[in-house]
Order: sequence, then C-alpha cells, then structure tokens
Amino acid sequence: MCGIVGVVGRGPVNQLIYDSLLLLQHRGQDAAGIATSEGNHFNMFKGHGLVRDVFRTRSMRSLPGFSGIGQVRYPTAGSSDSAEEAQPFYVNAPFGITFAHNGNLTNWNELRESLFRIDQRHINTNSDSEVLLNVLAHELQRAANGISLDEAAIFRAVTGLHSRVKGAYAVVAQISGYGLLAFRDPHGIRPLCLGRFESSAGPEWMVASESVALEGSGFAFVRDIEPGEAVFISLDGQVHQQHCSPPAQHAPCIFEYVYFARPDSVIEGVSVYNARLKMGEYLADKLARTMPLGEIDVVMPIPDSSRPAAMQLASRLNLEYREGLIKNRYVGRTFIMPGQAVRKKSVRQKLNTIGLEFKGKNVLLVDDSIVRGTTSREIVEMARAAGANKVFMASAAPPVRYQNVYGIDMPTQDELIANGRDEQEIAKLIGADALIYQDIEDMQKSVMDLNPKLTNFDCSCFTGEYVTGDITPDYLKWLARPRQEEGEGGGLQFNLGFAANDN
Ligand code: AMP
Repeated sequence: MCGIVGVVGRGPVNQLIYDSLLLLQHRGQDAAGIATSEGNHFNMFKGHGLVRDVFRTRSMRSLPGFSGIGQVRYPTAGSSDSAEEAQPFYVNAPFGITFAHNGNLTNWNELRESLFRIDQRHINTNSDSEVLLNVLAHELQRAANGISLDEAAIFRAVTGLHSRVKGAYAVVAQISGYGLLAFRDPHGIRPLCLGRFESSAGPEWMVASESVALEGSGFAFVRDIEPGEAVFISLDGQVHQQHCSPPAQHAPCIFEYVYFARPDSVIEGVSVYNARLKMGEYLADKLARTMPLGEIDVVMPIPDSSRPAAMQLASRLNLEYREGLIKNRYVGRTFIMPGQAVRKKSVRQKLNTIGLEFKGKNVLLVDDSIVRGTTSREIVEMARAAGANKVFMASAAPPVRYQNVYGIDMPTQDELIANGRDEQEIAKLIGADALIYQDIEDMQKSVMDLNPKLTNFDCSCFTGEYVTGDITPDYLKWLARPRQEEGEGGGLQFNLGFAANDN
C-alpha cells in the first residue's frame, strides 16, 4: 500500500509535500520520496524509511519548485524492496516525466514484455510502477503533436494507457514544463481526491490518496477523482478533466475502510470513522444473535484501527468498554522485511496489558481484521497471562481467505489463518474461547449505508472474486513467489533536467 500526493502551488511546495506525506505515513513506512519541478527542471530525493528519517534540511533544500509529487511506500505484491524502487520514478522522454503510483497492476508481466518487444523500452526494476510509467510515456509520445502537448493529447494518452493496463492504480505524474496529471483506474479501486487552497496569488491544487492529507495541509476537499477519470492541472493552475475509459463497475477497495485509511479521512463520500462505527453496530447485532451476551464482562479494542468498531459494539450491547491493551507509539522500525518471528516479537513490543482490566474477567477483544492470526494469537495469550477468565475474539471484517492483488500486502494464501479453515478451527488456533467474524454483507452495508451510490466493492481478499477479471491460479502462484532480499540504502538524490541545482 502506498500514499501519493501531487501539488501545483504558487510558492515552494517542498514543505507542503513533506507535511502531506507525514499525514499519509500510515499508508507506507518503507520508503519516501519527493520530486519537485522548477520550469523544465526536476529535483528529486528519495530513500528508505519513514518520511522524517529520509528527509533532512539539506535534502529539503535540494527540492525547490512550485509544483511537485511525493510518495510513501509499502512494498506490495510482486514488488521487491530495493532502494531504486523507491518512488517517484523518472523518465526523460517524452518531455520528462516524474511519477508516483499507489496500487498494483495485474498484467504487468505482459506489459513489460510488450514494452520491450514493441515499444522498445527497457524496464530496469521489478516494480510494476516503472512499467506503468513507461506505458504512460509511450502513450504520451504517441498522442503528442510533435514537440508540443495539449490537454486533449494528455487525455488521449491516458485513454491509451487504460486500454493496455489492468489492475489497481491511482497515479500522480508531472510532465516537465506542462503540469500535474492525476488519474485512477477504471474500477476506482485505490482512492484519490482533489483539494484546493485559495492563496493570495490564486488557487493552489493538491491531489492525494486520502482527504486527511488535504485537510491537514489547509486545503479544502473538492471531490474524489472518479474511476477512469484524468485530471490535468497546468502550471498556471488551470484544471482540466476528462473520463478516459469506458464505464466499468465501480469497486473501491473495502479494506481501506476496514483497516488502511485513517479514520479522519472521507473516501467516496464515506467517513472512514463512521464506516468503522457501523461495522461495530453490525458486529454487535451478529454477536447478539450468536452468543450469550451475559458471558461478556468487558469489550476491549486491539489498538488502533478497531477502536471505533469496539466502542460502538460495546455501546449497542450495553457492555462495559475498557482499554486494557496499551500501544507503544515509539517502537522503532524493523530493519528487515517482517518475517513471522519478527512479527510475533513486534506484537509484544507494541502492546502491553493492564492487568486489572483482565483479571478474572471474560473479555471480548475486537480487532478490525485477522490476517495471519499472529496478532490475535499473541494477544489472546497475553490476555490469559494477565489473568483473563475467558477470552473471546471478534473481527470487524470477515475471514481473509484470499490473496490481495490490488496493492495490499497479503500475498500468499498459505499465510492467511482463515485459508481453508472454519471459525472453530481458527478459534482453536488462536486459542480463543469463541471467535465471531463480521458477515461480508454486513461489512459492505457498513459502507453502503453511508453512501447508497456505492453498490460494489473490491472485497477480493474475502471472496476470491477479482473485479478486473484477469486473475488466474498461475498468476496467484507467481505472486506468492519469495521476494528478494531487502537491500538497505540511504537517500538517493537526483538532479534531473537542465538547470543548476542549488544544494
Ligand atoms: P495478523 O492477523 O497478525 O496478520 O494481524 C492483523 C492485524 O494487522 C489487523 O488487526 C490489522 O490491524 C493489521 N493489518 C491488517 N491487514 C494488514 C496488512 N495488509 N499489513 C499490515 N497490517 C495489517
């Protein structure tokens, strides 16, 4: 999962992009990067780690310019973790493009092949984003009239891209000397929204993965960018938009509401916080139908994402709500790609119990989702060690049984605790006295109730149904292949273009 942002401002945008990336940090902690544009010149700095660790005063000074893009990255399905795969990416032709992507392409192997054989473009990393950038570059080359570019040509290029590419993609790109281009895949799987700030010099524009980045940077939310739509903002702040794909089933990723997005974001007109409250309501009703409520002494969230659901569940069932698990906000980053042993240890490092909330009580723990089951298993054990009498577990999302191919990091089916198991078996594995999962329909209703225009979602990790229609067992097997070893790298600095850089 990644977070992306693009800005066309009236003054330097480096700090603004940095601040927005901090607000999107929850979407990816592996790498961060910014590319700004000054006339025909791009400046870029990117590296491994959290935003605050990647950028220093010196690197920020090397990023002058009134427009720019940024990305925070979490390595997702199919990608490796080398420093050169940190984004933004750059290609020098046509015009010079910098590019950042959130999502995952599902036909990138075929695209890579056709880029090489037909378009004669070389792809140097294992990143599907580099493939997507090269498709965009090729389509822009085809659509451009000689050496100049207008909006019609840019939209023709995005139309061409949609006809070749499959999967999930929300993109921000700068075209040197022209402006900022943003677009979403025809199903609108990954989110992207547009905001505006009225400066004394005229309007400034920001495109971001989540509305929290706009709001936190002082921009007013304007609207979501629609599925298949492209928005082009010229360097003088003119906004152009066009739908560039035939209508397709709108299927935003439901996992954004379950876990990924910040609760203070609004996606597709639905407050993520409100959706999580609703999930708590529906889960409460299921609990009331399936379990003797008298057995539960206390409801407890597994911090942080499950809090709204746990709160609402407790209030609806008239049960006591307590915080018995305390999270250490300052655990350091893990310097290797989390393997099972590291994950297990990190649960203990991250969470600790308050004994008096557990001692002698029957506790209902609520989590937003159960993926590998490591967290649940560890926490059930911790609850018992803290003196709990019975430990029940409830998940605000249904069992995760299938791989996610659209940019969420849950690649191998074998790793999923619910794969091929029923609820009793899972309860036994995590050591819980009972386990209650949300029903799929109720999870969907939790979002739909708040915007009835939404009728479909990408729920593939719960259902195994993939909206792009191109997922084969072979592809899933290929996706589950072991990833490359991580290479640790420092910041990478680039000076691209023709003007001198002032760092
Ligand atoms: P586990 O079941 O141990 O894999 O952990 C599940 C917990 O991790 C859930 O409570 C979520 O808060 C969080 N989570 C869910 N999906 C992901 C993901 N793709 N990457 C990282 N954390 C996740």
